[in-house]
Order: sequence, then structure tokens, then C-alpha cells
Amino acid sequence: MAFDLILRNARLATSDAARPSVDIAIADGRIAAIGERIAGDGENVDAGGRLVSPGLVESHFHLDKARILDRCEPPKDRRTGDHMKRTAAIKHTFTVEDIYTRARDTLEQCVLNGVTHMRTQVEVDPNVGLRGFDAIERLARDYAWAIDLQPCVFLQEGWTNSVGGEANVVAALKRGAPVVGGAPRYDTDHPGQIRRIFALAQEFNVDVDIHLDGGYTTHDLDIFQVCDITDRIGWGGRVAIGHGSKYSCLPQAELEALGRRLAASGVAVSVLPATDLFNNGRHMEHSVMRGVADANALIAQGANCSISTNNVMNPFTPFGDCSLVRIANMYANVVQRGTEGDLTECFAMLTDRAARILRRGDYGIAAGNPADLVVWNAKTPAEIIATVAQPLMGFKRGRRLFVREMAKLLQP
Ligand SMILES: [Zn+2]
Repeated sequence: MAFDLILRNARLATSDAARPSVDIAIADGRIAAIGERIAGDGENVDAGGRLVSPGLVESHFHLDKARILDRCEPPKDRRTGDHMKRTAAIKHTFTVEDIYTRARDTLEQCVLNGVTHMRTQVEVDPNVGLRGFDAIERLARDYAWAIDLQPCVFLQEGWTNSVGGEANVVAALKRGAPVVGGAPRYDTDHPGQIRRIFALAQEFNVDVDIHLDGGYTTHDLDIFQVCDITDRIGWGGRVAIGHGSKYSCLPQAELEALGRRLAASGVAVSVLPATDLFNNGRHMEHSVMRGVADANALIAQGANCSISTNNVMNPFTPFGDCSLVRIANMYANVVQRGTEGDLTECFAMLTDRAARILRRGDYGIAAGNPADLVVWNAKTPAEIIATVAQPLMGFKRGRRLFVREMAKLLQP
């Protein structure tokens, strides 16, 4: 047999002492075979017995407003949480070229951290129009060799109260955007916005991914309307929400009931710990709440969840090195999850579970799937999260994307 490449001594999440590693043979960008000591021609790459996982999936990331701290600082007073307003105030200065450059620099860092799939939220509010969509469309084409980029178009600053906003969403959907989103908390009419999002999802046959239930009050959750409509129109498995900070304020029994409801409706939750930690509890002077939903608890009730980065270097999230593993480690600290099983689930939320939100049917290490692979400086998924392990090599459709040398201590 002739292969393009054989990745040898690869430890898989399913490996055990009897069969600690396998070879993964790649041909025409796809996994051709998985087995022990695969014979055949092709370039040999040694994974050295390290864990090989599928490429990471960022299910919720705003490339279009990354890296804008130079023109929009975080608030000086920590009790102020007006990041949305201050970002909105500079959006008119965004040009296609400017968005493209910031998004590209951010995307490259994500790829170097092992990300091979991303759903990126794209704002089309009237103050930015379709410039973000133009930039992301071009970026998706230019970087198709490194990452599958899936845009989700939405209005950040209001919908039912926005003049000209919906026309922009429709224009982007007509140009092929596969996901429609929203942010009802910044709308004067939450239920009205949610109804418009689903109406467009049905009209254009696209998936739904809404910023939902940020904040800390629990008497006014929008998730039940989202589940009701999802049930009514049969959109289960095609709907996700981002944040869900309010779920962190629910008593355990109510959180578990929510998990069962999400599972029954097929509505997924992307937890965004960096942003939620930075923004929640600003109304509190002390004993500041965390605002990070316990996705493991929802998963235990059958729901699907992911962990994602959301933003880097902007007023919503002024930090970030685009390491999704670091975000998951932070999440595990905040929700106080540390068992082997918990951490294995955390890694699943960066991989298989997030891929289900993006509805990637061809995702994972199996013969026939695209060879999107990462070699980690770790032996198990749980160890990756626990140690914030470095990705040592990345592959997109069988082509090497990067090789990272481990730092060596220089002895005297
Ligand atoms: Zn977001």
C-alpha cells in the first residue's frame, strides 16, 4: 500500500496496556487505516507513544472583534460592565482589511494551539454592516488548508429594536452563512428576537446558536422558549446557546432538571469561562459570583455541552493566548471538577462534543474521516487538561500544520 504519511506510535484515548499505541496511515487527506505496525510506503512520523487526538473544535469564537484592546480598554472601575456599549462605540471604525488582519492573526494562534474547526460569531449590526462577514468569508477561503471555519451571523446590539439589522442577517444567510445567532439580552424584546432567529433558521434551513442567559437572575431564563420552539419545529440537534451564566445560579435540582430538558430538546450549551468570569458579578462588592455554568452537571443529565474561548484581547475578555486547553483547565478549576472522569469529559467538550454542535459527521479518529490530528505532550485526555499540555504536532487533512519543539533546560 502507498500512503502519504504514517503517524507511528500514536496513543489513542481508547488505548490500554495491552495495546498502548497504534499507527495511523493517511492517504488523500483521510485516515486510510488504523492498526499495529502498518506496512506500506509513505513518510513516517513518530508520535513517540504520545496521545493523538482529533483536532480541537472552537464552537464559539468572535474573530471579528478580537484584538481591539488598543482602541477599547477594559473599564478602570471593576464594578462597571459596559463592555458591549464600548465595543459598539468603535465598531464603525472596523474596515474589512482591519477585521481580516486581526482575525487572521488570532486564527493562526488558534491553529498553533491545535484547533482545526471553528464556529465564529460574525456581527452584522448596522454600524458594521457586512464588513465582518466579508472579512470572515475571505479568511475561511484563504485558511481552508488549516481550519474549517463556520460563520454564525447575528446582531449583537439588538434586533427587534434595530433599524436595518435583520436585512444584514438575511443578506449574509443568502450568501451561504450556515448558522444564525443572536443576543436577546441586548434587545428590548427577548422573546421577539428569539422568534425572529428561529423564523430565519426555518426559512434558510440553517442551524441556530444564540448568546443566551448571561447574568445571574434565575426567574427569567430564555432557555425554555428556545427549547419550546426547538421542539415545535423539530430543530433538535441543530440548536446551541452560548454562556448560560444564569445556570450557575440555579440550585442543584433545578440545574439537573434543566439538563434533562436540554437533552430532551437537543439544545446544546457552549460554556465560555473566560468571558463569564471577567464579566459576571460586577454588581457585587465581595464574595463575587463566578457565573460559569457547570457543564459537567448538564452532561450528566444527557445534555450536550462544549467549552469555548469566545473572545481574546477585547473589552469582553481582555486576556487570551488562544489556548483552548488552558480555557478548559480554568473551567475545571472554577466549577471544581478534578476527577479523571470529569477532566476526560472536559476534553470531550473541546473535541467530540463540540464537533456535534458543529454537526461534523466526519469528525474523529476513524478510517475514512479527514486526518485532522493533534499529537500532545501527554498520555491521556485528562492529563492534557490537568497539565495544560502543549500540542507538539498538528495535521489538517493529513498535512502537517506545525511542529513544536519542547523547551529544554540548559544545565550548567
Ligand atoms: Zn459570544
